[in-house]
Amino acid sequence: MQALLIYFLTYFLSAHGSLTPMKIAVVSGYGSLEPEMQSQLQNSLNWFQSAFLVHKSSHPVQISDIYERIPEYQKFSSVLVQTPLHRQNIRIKGLKSLLEISDFTVFIVAQDPRRCAREPDLLAEALPIVLLPDTRFYYDLFRHETLHGLGYGLIVDKTGLTDKPSEKMTWHGANGVGHPENRHFLDFDNFALKAGKEHFGCSNMKGIPADGERKNHLNEYVFGNELMTTHLEPSGNIFSWISVGIIERTYNGDQQWYHINRTYITPEADQYSYGRNFGCVFLEKSCHEFIRFTEATKPNFKTAPFCSRNHKNVNLRYFYYFPIFHEFQMCYKLPNSQKLYKISDKGCEMRRVIGGTDNGGQQRECPIIKHLPPMYEIVQCPPPPGG
Ligand SMILES: [Zn+2]
Repeated sequence: MQALLIYFLTYFLSAHGSLTPMKIAVVSGYGSLEPEMQSQLQNSLNWFQSAFLVHKSSHPVQISDIYERIPEYQKFSSVLVQTPLHRQNIRIKGLKSLLEISDFTVFIVAQDPRRCAREPDLLAEALPIVLLPDTRFYYDLFRHETLHGLGYGLIVDKTGLTDKPSEKMTWHGANGVGHPENRHFLDFDNFALKAGKEHFGCSNMKGIPADGERKNHLNEYVFGNELMTTHLEPSGNIFSWISVGIIERTYNGDQQWYHINRTYITPEADQYSYGRNFGCVFLEKSCHEFIRFTEATKPNFKTAPFCSRNHKNVNLRYFYYFPIFHEFQMCYKLPNSQKLYKISDKGCEMRRVIGGTDNGGQQRECPIIKHLPPMYEIVQCPPPPGG
């Protein structure tokens, strides 16, 4: 199969008028993707049209802009256009009226595999399309890439107002030995920071931790299954209130480009639970420090997916004057199921967790609960029979 790279073109100059659902289209000179991918692409376009409200631009993209930016499109006499509702081949001249209606147009370009080999970051973006056949994954991949196309993590704050300096810090490993690490923050964080403070329960949160010096993504270690981290989970990724804040604040000039439809996005954004109320120590220190600190200060707090003694609950009762410690095992269950699975000490493994992309990726070795599914709820196991 041909490797594909998605190319984005959009202009948001002197927008005016009222807010309307964003009209979005994908244009390909190379025909349709594989049927399942193409339909997930269409689903992702539906998501954008429902979630994003924009002002109409008074300077739509011209065909000449496309020929200049993507010269290979000069050779096509017709192209395939995918919108949230339709899929249709049109003459290249018909693009003019499409570009006038569309607020945002994505152009699919052929990708030279040799270029992927030269640029490892391109490889990361282009290869999953070829290798991973999970349908939900395509939906998230198209959402992730299109959000970049809209400017998420790629446009920099020209005013420098939201640009935060990187920080040096020390993380302590399982053996207590400290090693230096760098922390970077995304631009355009002033809406997202409020959501971040609430989510992590850290009112002193300094900024939105980024993947590295290039500040293209949310940090994988901190944000887990969020849609805009460096790695997509095959089982599903969530567009959180933090990403809502980043994309709404992503604009230069004096007018906001994107407004998110809160009614539409709430059911998804409210599902985001990774790291909820983990506190400032989680954001600033190693997983080992986070686990130890939480065990010492909040013995009932669940640190999953990180292993902790806290997942064993000890219940103290008295028989006359004698204390009796009753140990409860913690379990987890899947969202739409009542079946319980035990979390045992043996079910813990040291796993490398991706922190960022600096120096080939900051790696953290963290104790993670084995076989924990991506969506779960931690509950108390039922007491053993007769206990
Ligand atoms: Zn990305």
